Amino acid sequence: MEYKSIIIGAGLAGFTAAVYMARAGLKPLVIKGQRPSYHLTTTMEIEYFPGFLHGISGPDLLDNMFRQAEQFGAQVKIGDVYEVDLSKRPFKVWLEGWGEIKTETLIIATGTTAKLLGIPGEKDYLGLGVSTCAPCSAFLFRDKKVLVIGGGDSAMEEAIYLSHYASEITVVNRSDKLRASLALQERAREIRKIRWLMNRTPLEVITGEKGVTGLRVTSHESGQEESLEADGVFIAIGSKPNTEFLAKQLPLDEQGYILVKPGTTETDIPGVFACGDVQDRRYRQILNAIGSGCMAALDCQRYYTR
Ligand code: NDP
Repeated sequence: MEYKSIIIGAGLAGFTAAVYMARAGLKPLVIKGQRPSYHLTTTMEIEYFPGFLHGISGPDLLDNMFRQAEQFGAQVKIGDVYEVDLSKRPFKVWLEGWGEIKTETLIIATGTTAKLLGIPGEKDYLGLGVSTCAPCSAFLFRDKKVLVIGGGDSAMEEAIYLSHYASEITVVNRSDKLRASLALQERAREIRKIRWLMNRTPLEVITGEKGVTGLRVTSHESGQEESLEADGVFIAIGSKPNTEFLAKQLPLDEQGYILVKPGTTETDIPGVFACGDVQDRRYRQILNAIGSGCMAALDCQRYYTR
């Protein structure tokens, strides 16, 4: 099967590109991975979205965009892309459950995935007391004690979200300063259930018969190890671009972000574009993702009329 255009990734960048491509008559196929969009499902209330006086929730925004893209004629297939061949035309994309699909042009909008700490206990208990997504699992921690690891915007959002469920939330930050925006820090600091523990490096997720029971950390002040009691550990230490499936087919930077020509979404291969967080190591904001999705669709349309 051959498509005029495929968009890999069904987050805000991918769906924005899909709306623009569909409206231009380019009949895009959007490939939606099995996992939910990381950035959006972890951003429950987008209170700064321009024009929305009362904000909008991430999942609602994504759902609206999904329906809007379909309404304009985009097709959506669900499955994880595990390989692409960009060495000749048409490009080839291999999708779990569907096999090989060909396309004239490709827009990559695969976003990022939450990073893990790489400490013992973490992977084994992922989904069983260790989480990277408060909105996905906060309800399991009603009236329980939880830790949130990290000090950026993601950590603030996780802590704020968890405060609707958990009885006590402790933000564990490895340095003495938070990296989060002041607005989010202030919102979190207003919540009395949220406590702050700075200068601690996580060493191990402590587990027992009933699952996660805490976290072992080093205190930078005393140089001593400490055990923090908790029923759940939420890791919010940033994210990494989802580019493994590209396997050296496109130039990436040292962190794995796709390199695009400055001021455009064009990659090194004509007809292949990248938008959203997967090519944005600097801003990684929802509005930038939307803007670059629009840019990718326009760059792709120009490719056809060049
Ligand atoms: P950031 O990179 O901003 O912050 C990561 C945090 O995790 C830092 O506090 C960092 O500590 C800590 N950290 C990293 N590695 C480790 C480790 N191995 N052990 C312990 N701590 C660690 O990531 P975010 O995901 O918070 O944000 C990424 C981008 O997305 C930012 O641009 C942010 O503004 C944006 N974003 C915006 C949101 C919004 O506007 N609502 C919501 C979520 C994200 P240290 O400071 O010591 O390095």
